[in-house]
Order: sequence, then C-alpha cells, then structure tokens
Amino acid sequence: MIFDDEINNTVRYLKPSGIRKFFDLAATRKGVVSLGVGEPDFITPWHIREEAIHAIEKGRTFYTGNMGLYDLRKEICNYYKRRFGVSYDPDKNCIVTVGGSEAIDIVLRTLIKEGDEVILPTPAYVAYAAIIELAGGKVVEVPLKEEDEFKLTPEALKKAVSAKTKAVILNFPGNPTGGIMTHDDYSKIVPILKENGIFAVTDEIYAELTYEGKHCSIASFDEIKDRVIVINGFSKAYSMTGYRVGYILAHKDLIAMALKIHQYMIMCATTPSQYAAIEAAKNGDRDIEEMFISFKQRRNYIVKELNRIGLKTHMPQGAFYVFPSIAISKMGCEEFCEKLLEEENLALVPGNAFGDAGEGYVRISYAYSMEQIKIAIERLEHFLKQFK
Ligand code: PMP
Repeated sequence: MIFDDEINNTVRYLKPSGIRKFFDLAATRKGVVSLGVGEPDFITPWHIREEAIHAIEKGRTFYTGNMGLYDLRKEICNYYKRRFGVSYDPDKNCIVTVGGSEAIDIVLRTLIKEGDEVILPTPAYVAYAAIIELAGGKVVEVPLKEEDEFKLTPEALKKAVSAKTKAVILNFPGNPTGGIMTHDDYSKIVPILKENGIFAVTDEIYAELTYEGKHCSIASFDEIKDRVIVINGFSKAYSMTGYRVGYILAHKDLIAMALKIHQYMIMCATTPSQYAAIEAAKNGDRDIEEMFISFKQRRNYIVKELNRIGLKTHMPQGAFYVFPSIAISKMGCEEFCEKLLEEENLALVPGNAFGDAGEGYVRISYAYSMEQIKIAIERLEHFLKQFK
C-alpha cells in the first residue's frame, strides 16, 4: 500500500470482513459448494417485482423526499403495529434507508460520541463492530453462550455496563447464531437499560424468521421506547436483498438527527425499490409465510443431519443460520474451514469472523436449496470421518 501514512487511521487499521476474506479464497476454486452467504435463494415474489417495473414504466424515476415515500413509511408503521404491536408515526418516527446496512451506519453515527462504549453481544453480524469503530466508539463485547441458547442474559449485560456505555446492539433473531429473545427474556434486561439510560439499537431484520412463537420487539416495552431504535428492512423477509431498502423507527428527535446524515450522504433510497417495498409491506404477508415454511423445513433437516454426522448443533429459534460446534475436530475454526474447502470443496464461514466468542464454531447458512444442502452434508460427513 503506497498511501499507508496518508490514510485515515481508523480505516487503515480496520480489520477486513472475515467472511469476505474467506470467500475470496473460495472464489479461486472450481466446483465449490458454498453455504456461506446470508441471502434468501428465492426470487422476489412477482407482485413485488412488478411494482418496481411499473414504477420505471410510469416514469417514477426521480428522487423521493429524504425520509422516503410517505406511502412506504405509512405501510412500514402499519406493519409494525400489525405484526409486533408497536406504534410509530410515519411523519415523525421513520426514515427509509438503503438497506438495514445504511440504517446501522447512520444510527450509530448519530448516537456515538468519541470514546463512548457500545455493548456488542457476540458472535455478531460483522458490520456492527466496524461501524462502531468508524464512528469513534469503543466496542465492548459480551460473549453469548450456547448453554444460554445464545441469548443476552441480565448477568452478562450488567457486567459490561460502565459509566461510558451509550448503547447496546440487539440482533434477535441473530446472525450468526439464530438466537432469539422472548418477551420474558427482554423483561429481565429492560430494567438494566432503563436504570442506566442505555439506548437499545435493535436490528430486527430476521424478525419474520422466528420459528417457535412470535417475534418480540423490545420497542414494545413502553418504559424504554424513547431509547429504542429499531432497524429493519426488506432484504430477508421478502427476499429483496438487491433492492436495497431498509428503515429506522425511533423517537422523533433521534430521527431528526439521523436524517441529517442521510440527507447529506444518500438523499433517498432508490425510488423504484421504494415502490416495490410498498407492495411488499402491504400485500406480502403470504409470501413471508411461504418462505417461512420452507426455511423451517430446511432448519429441521440440517440440524438433524449435522447432529447425525457428529457436529453438535444447537437448534436455532430464528434467522436462517446454524452455528455448530466443531470441537470434535480439535481444530481452530479457520483451519477447519480452510481444510474443508481444500479437501471437500465446501465453503462455510469460520465462527471467529463474528468475534472471538465464535471460535470453536462455524456458521452455516441454510438459505440455499435442499439439493445444495444435501451435497454439503455429504461432503461434511466425508470430511468428519478423519476425526472419528
Ligand atoms: N443486519 C443483519 C443482522 C444482517 O445479517 C444483514 C445482512 N446480512 C443486514 C443487517 C443488512 O442487510 P441489508 O442491508 O440488505 O438490509
């Protein structure tokens, strides 16, 4: 790198995503089967695609208002009321963003002052730690444990709180563990957040993939709602990753601040995609149901098979990932994944890509066809024979 000394130091020393690093390696090989990527394999339902096409046909090719189309904000708020029982005002409490990704970025940049601590339960989705650091914050990792079903316990949270704590990141159902938090689980941590004035940044992008019971949003706890910031989006629930539509729901004063960044950086989310998202939020409940059934079948299959071939796997209650222990191999997770790729042409993600707490595990995404999942299990079974 010839510009080393001239590059912003935070960027320069930022660790590249452990997922990318691994998949660059996989891309150099032929015949690789990958269960690495967290992207639903369904093509977006036709009635939703059609709305994007219509928008272009009708010449809806201009910027929208900065907050996003009013009709979309209205549908998003209706959806939160209808599905999770939480009320928001489309005029004051909602910004449409470029995916959940932009939402994570502008929310954290809005909240974090230099030196603030942000509690991050790990293993966690790779973007949070990087964005906290880019915003000048300090990541305080709280390891989630398999024996707690990868839930955030009040004891673990309490231990991590300090006078500098600004926020906690909550991602339930979670990537990469599939862990969830029920109403009961949240009621144990809400008093701690309230007492310490901690903001809850809750990324609910996998809310619709909650397999037993219903998703609980922490925003439904009125006593802390002002300090809850909901991040969500259309990528996972409706299989709309490429449209790039997400959103933030929060107190009006936080929305007004986050909007300043969004205005300067982004202007607005893509217009035809916003029209497609209106259709999804309005008429997409049945699509969600169909994909849900398919994901649940895959989850049940893959967990049963992994346990059968010798990888101890906790039954995840949400999202579309399983997080098996690779203790049987007595290897580190990176070595395990490299060897698996080399010997069997199978690409999985090492658990430590999601934080140190992920060491000893691998992440397997089951957002792939049953055919691919079956081939992957065969390859994995063959690979594991050497450890028996
Ligand atoms: N949050 C989590 C937990 C994710 O897993 C992802 C995608 N992998 C995102 C946010 C970002 O999704 P998008 O930007 O497509 O909405």
